[in-house]
Amino acid sequence: MLSFQAILETIYKDALNAEDKGKVPTYIPELANIDINSFGIHLRTFDGKDYGIGDFNKKFSIQSISKVLALSKAISLVNGTVWKRIDVEPSGHPFNQLALLEIENGKPRNPLINSGAIIIADILISNLKNPKEDFLNYIRELTGDNDVNYNLTVANSEKNTGFKNYAAANLLKSFKNLDNSVDEVLDFYFHQCSIEMTCSQLTKAFYFLANKGVSLSNKNIISESQAKRINAIMLTCGFYDEAGEFAFEVGLPGKSGVGGGIVALLPNNYVITTWAPGLNLKGNSKLGMLALEQFTTKTKLSIF
Ligand code: GLU
Repeated sequence: MLSFQAILETIYKDALNAEDKGKVPTYIPELANIDINSFGIHLRTFDGKDYGIGDFNKKFSIQSISKVLALSKAISLVNGTVWKRIDVEPSGHPFNQLALLEIENGKPRNPLINSGAIIIADILISNLKNPKEDFLNYIRELTGDNDVNYNLTVANSEKNTGFKNYAAANLLKSFKNLDNSVDEVLDFYFHQCSIEMTCSQLTKAFYFLANKGVSLSNKNIISESQAKRINAIMLTCGFYDEAGEFAFEVGLPGKSGVGGGIVALLPNNYVITTWAPGLNLKGNSKLGMLALEQFTTKTKLSIF
């Protein structure tokens, strides 16, 4: 019988011993102030139990992890439109790279790189009555917790320095793949990325993707087939140009964010979230990747 708590404790201690804890990103000034020694892991299994260690109840900036939740909302509203405007191929390039977008005539490779996520933001603005309010309520509902908010300082910090995101949105606009104004879309996108959650809140919010589209509170969020597709996109595109490495080392669909979080899941089995703000050169959490590799190795619970 596996003792999940004992396994979490071992991998937590081992990862903390790593000499290289990565670096906090400086391109979003507000994220550069986070304590590099923060580290938390939270696991929720399908038998209704949950396990945590370290800073698993501390809030952090979910950043690109929000792209998966935004995608799920867009798919639930207008499934067909999404795939006319965005492809489903790994980009093999950093999350904010623009060259491919230009070469491929303004159709982003997938919804988890910035250009794809900016189109998802555009779709949500066009289809929600009060976009920022409705999206926050969607996440609160998935989490079953109203204590989830935008961090306006982080959103403004990105607004002032997100030059590549402005470039991406302008490029999309020039290819007529953006309906709303660049400023309106990026305002939504920066807010979405600034959402703060804890590891344990994220394992709750992502439960529906491991559970055929049905949330922890038993609500049908998306169909089983849509959940399957989002998991496939997370597996192939969730870690930018390190998606292959994550599949190779960990073997789970997952998504990282430059705030240092990673959410990964095994359908019908568990959801796990790690948070350690030091990033590797590809922008993924250094200790998070290490811990998840250890977790699937020790438990033998991966999709492969
Ligand atoms: N808000 C960040 C950006 O647009 C998200 C990047 C990430 O988490 O990978 O650059």
